[in-house]
Amino acid sequence: MTPRSVLVVGESLAGTTAARELRALGHTGPVTIIGAERHGAYSRPPLSKAVLKDPGPYDPPVQGFDGLDIDIVRSPATAADMSRRTVTTADGREFRYDALIITTGAEARRLAAPGRRGELVLRTLDDARLLRSRLQTAASALVVGAGFLGMEVASACAARGIPVTVVDVDRPLERVLGGYLSAAITARAEAYGIRCLRTSGFATLAGDPVHGVTLPGGTELTADLVVSCAGETPCTDWLAGTGLADQLGVGIDSDCATAVPGVFAAGDVTCLRGGDPGPDRRAPFWSNAVAQGKVAAASALGLPPAGPPYDDYFWTEVAGLALKVVGPLPAIGEPTTVDGSLDEGRALLTWKHPDGRSTVVAYGMRKRVTALRALAEPVSTQ
Ligand SMILES: Cc1cc2nc3c(=O)[nH]c(=O)nc-3n(C[C@H](O)[C@H](O)[C@H](O)COP(=O)(O)OP(=O)(O)OC[C@H]3O[C@@H](n4cnc5c(N)ncnc54)[C@H](O)[C@@H]3O)c2cc1C
Repeated sequence: MTPRSVLVVGESLAGTTAARELRALGHTGPVTIIGAERHGAYSRPPLSKAVLKDPGPYDPPVQGFDGLDIDIVRSPATAADMSRRTVTTADGREFRYDALIITTGAEARRLAAPGRRGELVLRTLDDARLLRSRLQTAASALVVGAGFLGMEVASACAARGIPVTVVDVDRPLERVLGGYLSAAITARAEAYGIRCLRTSGFATLAGDPVHGVTLPGGTELTADLVVSCAGETPCTDWLAGTGLADQLGVGIDSDCATAVPGVFAAGDVTCLRGGDPGPDRRAPFWSNAVAQGKVAAASALGLPPAGPPYDDYFWTEVAGLALKVVGPLPAIGEPTTVDGSLDEGRALLTWKHPDGRSTVVAYGMRKRVTALRALAEPVSTQ
């Protein structure tokens, strides 16, 4: 049955993609988006890149719905009642729906206990503006976590000439990209002015206000600013009592359907339950949120999704190097170098997998994503 009204909770990438897709698929009934941020929808990837590096003021481009007749409510959802099909917002209003799409994303995981001051994180526009203002006067920085976000923040510090140390139990980006790329990126980061410190256990934050980190052996490192880039936590508090979420987020199947009929989810709030392409997985990346937003919209209308509920393209910028990746990760072992070389700082690399697919990496090399996708496709044996 085609739903009359669709309620989307979460006004960001997955939510706005889903809302646009509902209209693109011909849905003419009411569509309402409930958002929590006063800024409305904006893109997060620039927050850890250009926004931290560029000195000028940053106002994100407005992401409107030009004539699509979509109602926007700016008050966070606080509760949902699956049997009555309602969502309640902080300002006391109640919204009924025929189909619900959950796109509340994630928030930065904090290492300090609630109430402890001084820990910086980076998830929102407000976080980015605060961090940028602190970078203007900082003489030293510590970043906890050597994943994408941590390495991007460290790169921004180094680009500003601020001595920066990144602390992690793993090598930079090793968990996601594998050892080969991690080694290349670590060498590049060190040459760029980023000190990468691998610890034997988890570091903890020191002081209140936070002024450093304590390493497993008890050594304390101090800095003017300490930024935790320790992952993200799905925003599911408002779903308490619905049984829809666990610590990995809202479980979805390949149609972005949850365990409750008429309720779908997309983006960083989700965890794709086993099966294709493997075990339960969270994939909190931009192109994944777009793919799932589209699938959730189609499924909410009872239509077959046009594509899979994942997209394994992502990009990052570390130590002045743009990296684009398509295909399964981590990439284990030595790649085939299709073009350029790591020494030149520009290379096109591929890793071939037993199922015929490849992981393709443009390392500091300008390449269109469509070209990378084509290279990553399984080679036909016919
Ligand atoms: C700094 C930064 C840099 C990034 N860079 C890259 C990159 O280079 N490449 C890449 O592939 N990915 C990158 N990402 C990841 C990418 O931005 C995310 O995957 C994407 O934003 C996910 O979109 P989403 O809509 O699922 O969630 P979000 O963008 O988290 O949006 C969820 C929205 O829901 C709102 N919300 C939460 N709770 C409620 C509630 N109770 N009621 C109503 N609304 C609520 C939130 O306020 C938020 O606006 C980056 C992320 C960050 C933070």
